[in-house]
Amino acid sequence: MTAGSVTRPIPAQQTPAPARGTATLNDARAQLAAAVELLGYDRGTYDLLSVPRREVSVSIPLRRDDGTVEVLTGHRVQHNYSRGPGKGGVRFSPRVDLDEVRALAMWMTWKCALLDVPYGGAKGGVRIDPRQYSAAELERVTRRFTSEISPLIGPTQDIPAPDVGTDEQTMAWMMDTYSVGAGHTVLGVVTGKPISLGGSLGRASATSRGVVHVALAALRHLGLDPRGCTAAVQGFGKVGRGTARFLAEAGVAVRAVSDQDGAVAALDGAAGLDVAALEAHVDATGSVAGFRGGVAIVGEELLTADVDLLVPAAVEGVLHEGNAADVRARLVVEGANGPTTAAADALLAARGVLVVPDILANAGGVIVSYFEWVQANQAYWWSEDEVEARLADRMTSAWQQVLAQSQRHGVDLRSAATSLAVQRVAEAHVLRGLYP
Ligand code: GLU
Repeated sequence: MTAGSVTRPIPAQQTPAPARGTATLNDARAQLAAAVELLGYDRGTYDLLSVPRREVSVSIPLRRDDGTVEVLTGHRVQHNYSRGPGKGGVRFSPRVDLDEVRALAMWMTWKCALLDVPYGGAKGGVRIDPRQYSAAELERVTRRFTSEISPLIGPTQDIPAPDVGTDEQTMAWMMDTYSVGAGHTVLGVVTGKPISLGGSLGRASATSRGVVHVALAALRHLGLDPRGCTAAVQGFGKVGRGTARFLAEAGVAVRAVSDQDGAVAALDGAAGLDVAALEAHVDATGSVAGFRGGVAIVGEELLTADVDLLVPAAVEGVLHEGNAADVRARLVVEGANGPTTAAADALLAARGVLVVPDILANAGGVIVSYFEWVQANQAYWWSEDEVEARLADRMTSAWQQVLAQSQRHGVDLRSAATSLAVQRVAEAHVLRGLYP
């Protein structure tokens, strides 16, 4: 390596890997075990589906802008491809570890099966805090990571997409890097691309729209008229921001929102936050913190706010045994992947709080990713109205199927959704047979 004349002291010891992902993976496996039991499948089926089919961990040497070299770690996990190529996002986050990526890949398998899009499940991640790096550094990280996982990905193998800490620019770099290696442009290798580069209209807002489709359906199921309901949204990024906007458009008063830098609640006497004004504030400052049209609150308070609907739309494990008993919302709709731990699930269920699980609630993103892949492979793009109508149909139909499964078996929505998905994956596996 040519670190040049720039030298840095070598740290005496590597920082130990975080163990948080292991708890997330344990929860994901417990959900699978419950579904396997509900379906009456054998232990072999559980064993087969509880481990990834293929996974790779890579080192990513990065030359920083100051000339020093730093080595990051990345992963791509392909959980299952019985129903089609792997599919799932790539996240850039300091919390990334292999077990977290394994859990997220498993949830992608269930999500794709539940929404009946013809993919398996995969996930990728690089342990990095993207806010600490320049755009040029992030481009180098993205390109090196893509190059390292290139043998495993492709439009018929495994199709990455944005997730926490990545965006359409990341996807453009991934597509370009893969295409340079292939010797020609391969639009279908990633989804969530910019519109001018083969992206789909309606992809950027798809996850939020999907969250709101099921949130409104679930409120009505509880006998509540969304107009007049109140909500709190944790996270104001790719999922939370659109969720707040579409909820407000549907007449739900958004009483509190938060992001990594702060949290704000509606002023006394106001029905809800002015979401359009809040969005303008975020565009100008980069955060919800300091928004004059609301009062600052502690982020944790948002989760226990006195609202009808709570949408955790940030990261895993935010509802846990330490706070779930204090949740006052009647409905939790999971915009994030894995925001509710297994212990919190039990506490919420005991108190009659309805939880719409991630693999249903936030599936709008992968649905429109699928539409984008279909459009790119056909080189024929649809209108935004067409994308949105098809998205709404799929979300509504999946909500009805999950509700029916929950009523049929007397189980919560997460068990209902997971068991429907596991059944579809297991059926595909049985039809294909075990090789050799
Ligand atoms: N990262 C998103 C998710 O967790 C989207 C994945 C995709 O579009 O492939 O569902």
